[in-house]
Amino acid sequence: MNPQKRIAIYGKGGIGKSSTASNVAAACADEGYNVMIIGCDPKSDSSITLLGGKRIPTILDLLREGMEIEKEEDVVFEGYKAVKCVEVGGPEPGIGCAGRGIIVAIQKLKKISQSMKEMDLIIYDVPGDIVCGGFVAPIRKGLVNEAYVLTSGEYMPLYAANNICKGLSRINTKLSGVICNSRSVSREEEIVSKFANEIGSDLVAFIPKEQIVQDCERDGYSVLEKAGDTDIAEVYRTLARNIMASDCAVDPRALTDERLRELTR
Ligand code: SF4
Repeated sequence: MNPQKRIAIYGKGGIGKSSTASNVAAACADEGYNVMIIGCDPKSDSSITLLGGKRIPTILDLLREGMEIEKEEDVVFEGYKAVKCVEVGGPEPGIGCAGRGIIVAIQKLKKISQSMKEMDLIIYDVPGDIVCGGFVAPIRKGLVNEAYVLTSGEYMPLYAANNICKGLSRINTKLSGVICNSRSVSREEEIVSKFANEIGSDLVAFIPKEQIVQDCERDGYSVLEKAGDTDIAEVYRTLARNIMASDCAVDPRALTDERLRELTR
């Protein structure tokens, strides 16, 4: 049996982490893997497209309401092709730190969840594009053993991706690859591919910007479920296979800001 993969997808807020994470989860489930997705975003949108548009309660919300979470079914919900969906939640505006909350919630989850141990793949969809408590919580707790960074070819998402690489090296965590979620900027694939190579990694997928992704999301489904015969579904399938097959990770070497600007010029 292959060792369990526990990956986190990092990247600037709004760059498409949740949609990438949920489509990869669906693609791996299609291939017969046991998959769990753990969303760590206050909007709890990592799992919604695996659950036909249904929003599940977050662990932190339930804890705040004073609920005793004792069994897995309280917080783990089965979605598309039996993907186990968990939403950790986030802090209320102005109160506390998401990093601390994530640790509390995941410790709780570990205690009650038997199926966590049985998964082939656990995907952490982590918030934040800076090196902060939220960013490092799953790694510090030994919950993640591979990191991916998601970006487009624009300067700001690349800047965030580069910062994430700095953070990963500081905490001795390896990077398994760079994923480009296209915004249709010019020379995008070339820019992100160069970025990936210069930090010592690879571009593992180029996800084109396609309206169908938003359409499926709006209807509450992953592309794999709703539009499985499209080219973009095939892109997610290839990414999912690459992730499951990957055994190469590097210590990323972040670029200087000057070089980053040159790349995107
Ligand atoms: S440390 Fe990070 S996770 Fe915590 S509140 Fe600040 S930005 Fe959010």
